[in-house]
Amino acid sequence: MTDVFRAEVRDWLAAHVPARPLPSLDTAEGFEAHRAWERELAAARLAVVTWPAAYGGRDATLAQWLVFEEEYWAAGAPARVGQNGLSLLAPTLFAFGSPEQRDRLLPRMAGAQDIWAQAWSEPDAGSDLAAIRSRGVRAAGGWLVSGTKTWCSRGAFADRAFGLFRTDPALERHRGLSYLLFSLRAPGVTVRPIRQLGGRTGFAEIFLDEVFVPDRDVVGAPGDGWRIAMSTASHERGLSLRSPGRFLAAAGRLVWLWRRSGGDAALEEQVADAWIRARAYQLHTQATADRLAAGGTLGAEASLGKVFWSELDLALHETALDLLGPWAEVRDGPDGRWLEDYLFALAGPIYAGTNEIQRTLIAERLLGLPREAPSR
Ligand SMILES: Cc1cc2nc3c(=O)[nH]c(=O)nc-3n(C[C@H](O)[C@H](O)[C@H](O)COP(=O)(O)OP(=O)(O)OC[C@H]3O[C@@H](n4cnc5c(N)ncnc54)[C@H](O)[C@@H]3O)c2cc1C
Repeated sequence: MTDVFRAEVRDWLAAHVPARPLPSLDTAEGFEAHRAWERELAAARLAVVTWPAAYGGRDATLAQWLVFEEEYWAAGAPARVGQNGLSLLAPTLFAFGSPEQRDRLLPRMAGAQDIWAQAWSEPDAGSDLAAIRSRGVRAAGGWLVSGTKTWCSRGAFADRAFGLFRTDPALERHRGLSYLLFSLRAPGVTVRPIRQLGGRTGFAEIFLDEVFVPDRDVVGAPGDGWRIAMSTASHERGLSLRSPGRFLAAAGRLVWLWRRSGGDAALEEQVADAWIRARAYQLHTQATADRLAAGGTLGAEASLGKVFWSELDLALHETALDLLGPWAEVRDGPDGRWLEDYLFALAGPIYAGTNEIQRTLIAERLLGLPREAPSR
């Protein structure tokens, strides 16, 4: 069954992956080219394989999804511009959304009619997400939302966003928050692109000035946003955001690069280490998928995976740059992808919750170590 599926995916990708890489999705042109690619995937029912058929999926198992991902990355297929919606919001809607929300939002997400941004971080609330200040004030039939969100990946060109807002100012921190969905083109929304380390401007700040969010775009109950957001976060750190296929493909390319450079003995160990760690992550993820398929939950263990893949990604790309030597800096050359991907790998220990915070979660929730005393 899995072999048949693997063969189908491999054949389809071999026939459809663009011969030349698409322009970066952090540019307007690249964003639309990636949207068109998402539509091709959707037409082949390969955009969201684990979703129910009614929403454009194939009811595939997690094991099949891992196979899909391995083939996808091995084929060098384009980055998934719909990632925030597909990997983060969709699992949240399956768990907490209403049937009406699922019917209305998921098919448009699968077909890339709506590409979503995650609007959580604020200028004074990153690691300490419960410090958010953006607020929603009750209005007839919905909420009027105001505040500033920042570091929104794909935010400059995306269509809609999911965010956390303080809807009960009488309650503190984790309480009184609501999980709201809004259009990035709604009246009162201003999107300001942020230039990234690599020079592109796909990131954005979002300014909201009394933006109307109807009741039907509240996920779960008003005030229950923190619990729902933590479910999204465990997907972000856990299985769906960074599959082993991504790192297996990169490790394979690293081995190829090492061979091409004449088998540099000084870097042999780092190359082997990257390959072994990618394979270890694959096996660990397969075990997690089996546990979930047997009715288990993800929980704080997601933090282990997040620290592991982000550190692996960085070490792997540093080794590639060492192998390339001075050529590593030639961004427009045939090996330019290594530098691009290295710049992005630098962010891995920061996004999806910084690794310092993940280590605290691992210490307290998995190892049962005492909580850190507040500093005086
Ligand atoms: C590439 C990238 C994409 C992103 N995409 C999105 C997105 O789409 N949507 C979104 O909402 N946000 C996004 N973010 C933002 C990201 O979630 C935050 O940057 C992250 O949560 C850290 O918050 P901060 O930047 O405010 O840093 P801070 O929270 O100010 O942390 C600064 C430093 O202090 C450390 N620190 C803070 N508190 C503690 C503590 N209690 N114990 C130990 N160390 C601590 C942190 O680990 C970090 O090293 C993205 C970030 C990056 C880099």
